[in-house]
Amino acid sequence: MRRVLVVGAGHSGLQLTLSLLAEEDYDVTLISARTADDIRDGSPMSTQGMFHQALETERAYGLNLWDDTVPHYDGLHITLSAPPGQLALAINAPLDFPGQSVDQRVKMATWLDLAAERGATIIHDTVGHDDLDRYTSSGEYDLVIVAAGKGDLVSAFERDAARSPFTTPQRALAFTYVKPLEPDPAWPAPHIGFHAVPGHGELFVIPALTRSGPSDILFFEAVPGGPLDVFTPGMDPADQLTRTLELAARYVPWVHERAEKAELADTRPTLAGRLTPTVRKPVAHLPGGGIALGMADVVVLNDPITGQGSNTAAKCSAAYLAAILAHGDQPFDEAWMTSTFETFWDNTAKAVTDWTNAMLQPLPEHVQMLLGTAAGEPAVARRFANGFSDPTDFADWFMTPQAAQNYLEHLQ
Ligand SMILES: Cc1cc2nc3c(=O)[nH]c(=O)nc-3n(C[C@H](O)[C@H](O)[C@H](O)COP(=O)(O)OP(=O)(O)OC[C@H]3O[C@@H](n4cnc5c(N)ncnc54)[C@H](O)[C@@H]3O)c2cc1C
Repeated sequence: MRRVLVVGAGHSGLQLTLSLLAEEDYDVTLISARTADDIRDGSPMSTQGMFHQALETERAYGLNLWDDTVPHYDGLHITLSAPPGQLALAINAPLDFPGQSVDQRVKMATWLDLAAERGATIIHDTVGHDDLDRYTSSGEYDLVIVAAGKGDLVSAFERDAARSPFTTPQRALAFTYVKPLEPDPAWPAPHIGFHAVPGHGELFVIPALTRSGPSDILFFEAVPGGPLDVFTPGMDPADQLTRTLELAARYVPWVHERAEKAELADTRPTLAGRLTPTVRKPVAHLPGGGIALGMADVVVLNDPITGQGSNTAAKCSAAYLAAILAHGDQPFDEAWMTSTFETFWDNTAKAVTDWTNAMLQPLPEHVQMLLGTAAGEPAVARRFANGFSDPTDFADWFMTPQAAQNYLEHLQ
């Protein structure tokens, strides 16, 4: 029986715990800073829009408990508000397979209860550096994994400067869960709205299942210091909604038309804050000589502009699971940890990080040309949408002027 300690009961930690418990011969201890009730009754942490490839990693272990109740989305409706407030471009970009967003308060609370039911040892505690030192050197565990998101424990992992181009937040983030909006006349089927206001930021509209049932999330990504950067952490939810609607009326009036009667979805429906995109080295070395492997946001934290963090957390969980199973009874040493992360980086996280960091910049000419073509060419629109499920595809046609030119030349 191999003993695994997972620190952090968020997306990646819970998915890995539940997947390991479904395999034979793994004894899993999970440390959660919060109880299931704390998570369920607390404030939302994410908009967690997910796409097919990542959802399939959950389905492989029967963790898709909301497939029948979540409002699925069929694609992305992308608009360009330029000059601000005027519709310059609109693209309907269908997904080959539907995506979904289940509020992490619902999903993680349920998964945490499930982990306890299925035999994980659950410890409720906030792990500090001294605790991590103790756990990694006690000899009690064959493997210690830190899946504690973007909390303080990340400082146990060294920043990887070569893979981290930013030292400050690139967007101020503010979202509000509201009761479902009026359908979009531009595309009545459920979809994600991706509304770009060049130079100022973006407004996303994401259908989701939250505590009170189906909802929409109005999510502003504001360029820091710009006119959309008006939200403060802990702001009164009603005020946050009012500001959101004021900005929508001014900058994205076609969303405001559907949202002007929007009501808060529950009593704690908002979040506002900012993060600095950061990649970290995968192995923490603790003073007592122990080591721990970082996973998901701990080691690859991207801005949510491309909606990839939960998707990447799911894929990271699947990648680490495969590496653990393949390793059998051999020691989970530093070489194994490094190669496990580097494989995940090469296969998944690098493409996500490159694409996400590019989307935070003013869009280069070749991307503007691709999106312009997508407005009249369904194949291009479809390829863009499906890149949200498999971002490794972007390297072949989207990321460089040369790749874009080759793609457009060969487009039938
Ligand atoms: C505003 C916003 C919008 C987003 N929208 C999307 C989206 O649309 N699509 C998408 O794919 N991703 C999105 N994301 C990203 C996504 O939510 C995260 O990337 C994903 O949840 C990361 O999973 P994780 O397992 O690394 O960490 P988390 O899911 O954050 O879990 C970490 C867990 O560890 C716990 N913890 C922290 N510190 C400790 C400690 N010291 N001891 C014990 N426990 C601890 C926390 O309480 C938490 O439960 C968004 C993020 C933000 C901020």
